[in-house]
Amino acid sequence: MAFRVISPRILKNLRCNTTTKPLKTFHPSISTAIASPSPAAATLSLEDSEQLFGSVSTKQLLRSSVVQHAMAVESLVDLGMWVMKSSVFESGVMKDLVMTTMRQTFYSHFCAGEDAAAAGRSIRALNDTGLRSMLVYGVEDAHDNEGCDKNLQWFLNNVDVSKSFPPSSVSFVIVKITAICPMPLLERLSDLLRWQQKHPSFVLPWKQDSLPIFAESSPLYHTQKRPKPLTPEEESDLQLANQRLLKLGQKCEEANMPLLVDAEHTTVQPAIDYFTYSSAIIHNKDNNPIVFGTIQSYLKDAKERLLLTIKAAEKMGVPMGFKLVRGAYMSTESKLAESFGYASPIHDTIQDTHNCFNDCSSFLLEKVANGPGSVVLATHNIESGKLAVAKAHELGVEKVKHKLEFAQLYGMSDALSYGLSNAGFQVSKYMPFGPVEMVMPYLLRRAEENRGVLAASGFDRELVRKELGRRLKASVF
Ligand SMILES: Cc1cc2nc3c(=O)[nH]c(=O)nc-3n(C[C@H](O)[C@H](O)[C@H](O)COP(=O)(O)OP(=O)(O)OC[C@H]3O[C@@H](n4cnc5c(N)ncnc54)[C@H](O)[C@@H]3O)c2cc1C
Repeated sequence: MAFRVISPRILKNLRCNTTTKPLKTFHPSISTAIASPSPAAATLSLEDSEQLFGSVSTKQLLRSSVVQHAMAVESLVDLGMWVMKSSVFESGVMKDLVMTTMRQTFYSHFCAGEDAAAAGRSIRALNDTGLRSMLVYGVEDAHDNEGCDKNLQWFLNNVDVSKSFPPSSVSFVIVKITAICPMPLLERLSDLLRWQQKHPSFVLPWKQDSLPIFAESSPLYHTQKRPKPLTPEEESDLQLANQRLLKLGQKCEEANMPLLVDAEHTTVQPAIDYFTYSSAIIHNKDNNPIVFGTIQSYLKDAKERLLLTIKAAEKMGVPMGFKLVRGAYMSTESKLAESFGYASPIHDTIQDTHNCFNDCSSFLLEKVANGPGSVVLATHNIESGKLAVAKAHELGVEKVKHKLEFAQLYGMSDALSYGLSNAGFQVSKYMPFGPVEMVMPYLLRRAEENRGVLAASGFDRELVRKELGRRLKASVF
């Protein structure tokens, strides 16, 4: 490895050289965060590694470099998945060894910490570099009410942790509906909602006010025959799920802490959207969206659905917040559609996905510039970042900057995050936290889903390497 041959003197110099250049000193808050960027800083510049990583320590850069290289190797992700699933992982010694290695490498690179105190330190450190945090407790899907109740406590606790920081530090609390409503029920609700879309006279007595969750082009193949109505037990489970979301929404509303609902695969997404929109109708008031939904632009129906939902929300006077992503379940979606004998719901080419993301981004920016609502552009894609920055300038940065949040995963695409932040935009990192044993399976699953992204993060690896080289040279000469 390159740094094995570095002399102790140089290493000492490197350690001292933690901050080579102060980054901007303002700390954004949700409404008054962004100090006006100087005209020179207003564009997205990603060439100058010294400027981008000025506030990042050499130790952090070295760890980033090692982890990024390791994650780019597909076989390492496979090995990680194999170890976590295999029986060797159940043996005490082996498990301890794997956990210690994971804790010191991948976990500390991609996670905020094991508990609220550790997460707090990561949040402060990130905020010192000008970025904000989106806290996500790394829980997996729940299959019964007991699991959902336990998860709800974690999410509520997450709101308490988040609100204990100034708004300049934590931008959103994340919730996975699959963790607070049992998965089998989400599947049943989605089936029933799809059947109603196919047969508008089909009555769903439990359905509350919501917004459109399907468009003409939405895939409905998952539901081939008329589903049975909810049983009394399912109705009671649904009531419990509604109560959990209501409790969480109320807590977020009281704390004025926006709640971002993650999107999952299409088997359960109709029910997730249904919960999200009915909750938004309750909590999103006075130009202040509290509950945000997620639109996956890799889906062919994404744009049409987004337009319909926004139109209906406008008619009802509900200010909406959306997180826009490309989507993380590509292979699951294609396989599922194939098993039903249908074409994949994902765009046929990656360029179509890029176009859809950029069109939806442009549409949402126009909406928030001229009316209520907010938008989170969650992407590592540099071209999409550049286009959004250009659109913000075209619309007038002042009109959008408090309503726009860029977001990247913690430990990924730091160059883009710092570049956007240097250009005067609000930027958050999506930060999972929780005990290593709980978060590692979550992380590895995300790594498996995002293989393409990990392998494609060469741009960031190159910039980190360039900056490490520059610091090394600066220490030697
Ligand atoms: C803060 C944050 C929150 C997120 N939340 C969610 C969420 O709630 N739900 C969710 O599903 N995902 C979520 N994601 C993951 C996201 O959906 C993407 O998987 C990931 O960010 C990669 O997309 P990108 O915009 O960064 O673009 P890029 O870095 O450009 O990645 C493009 C990737 O898109 C994929 N792709 C999409 N469409 C096609 C196609 N037609 N053909 C081939 N490849 C295609 C490929 O895997 C490719 O590697 C989140 C990401 C972030 C940063």
